[in-house]
Amino acid sequence: MRQPQKRPSGSDPAPQESDARAKRQMAVESGAGKKNVGWDLKIVGTTVATRIERQKRLAELLYSSPHVWADKHQKQQVIADRVLSRSKVMTSRNFQSVAKNDLELMAYLYDEQFLGGIALPLAESYGLSFRLSSRMTRAGGKTTRTVYPATAGRPSRTHYEIALSTSLLFQSFRGADDNIRVCGYDCRDRLTAMQRIVEHELIHLCEMLVWIQSDCAAGRFQSIAHGMFGHTEHRHELITQQQRAAKDYNIRAGNRVAFRFEGKTIVGVVNRITRRATILVEDSRGERFSDGKRYLKYYVPIHQLRPIA
Ligand SMILES: [Zn+2]
Repeated sequence: MRQPQKRPSGSDPAPQESDARAKRQMAVESGAGKKNVGWDLKIVGTTVATRIERQKRLAELLYSSPHVWADKHQKQQVIADRVLSRSKVMTSRNFQSVAKNDLELMAYLYDEQFLGGIALPLAESYGLSFRLSSRMTRAGGKTTRTVYPATAGRPSRTHYEIALSTSLLFQSFRGADDNIRVCGYDCRDRLTAMQRIVEHELIHLCEMLVWIQSDCAAGRFQSIAHGMFGHTEHRHELITQQQRAAKDYNIRAGNRVAFRFEGKTIVGVVNRITRRATILVEDSRGERFSDGKRYLKYYVPIHQLRPIA
């Protein structure tokens, strides 16, 4: 059993370095290490023309009439079967393990089946990476577009990243009857939930590639998500750490709880629940809070907490 630890609250790891392909692409764009300027300009010109052409085709595709996607369920099934059969770690639809390769393969299969094979190569032409996160405890996935400003000798560059929350996936679908709604679909297993999350994130990516801004609360996003994938809700409803803690351990933010630390029983108040619970314990050595009292923060695994009256 892991001991409670006092440690600073962390954030998700920084976006990963772009992959080798993206680095090569950047080298072409920046003309790094090449002397023949005329040749480089031709390459840059071709890349820009190709991007504009791809953006145009992608925009047309996103605005397609919904009947184009009438066979969406077969396509979604084909993707599920292929990911499962090619994965080195997924052994069933309610898999116990998932690798970054599985996320990447799933995204590429969606690109092939739904996005005309345009979106991911377009993102790659800037820089694209995938990430599994065990620290994202609210959203099932996250797509980010980062613009790195120009530095001496290097032009500005854009990088896209798609992250999947493994903590949300793995704390859901534990019981035989777990039925969790994601994007309006009733999902009975992790593979189905992962597909809905990847679909949602791919629409964010496509919007960013074409219009830069992407907002899943806006009408454009929702009409694409509904037409292409049949989503009826734009928010994930994967069971969250907070819901899990409340249901299994009867612990909510604001509750008084006790836990063991260095051989002693300590009593505090639940401040926040993510992967662990943040417990505030009154202590003159702690930092001052808005109520004028001083508290130390403890980060404690939820199963080690005991609610007290
Ligand atoms: Zn969203």
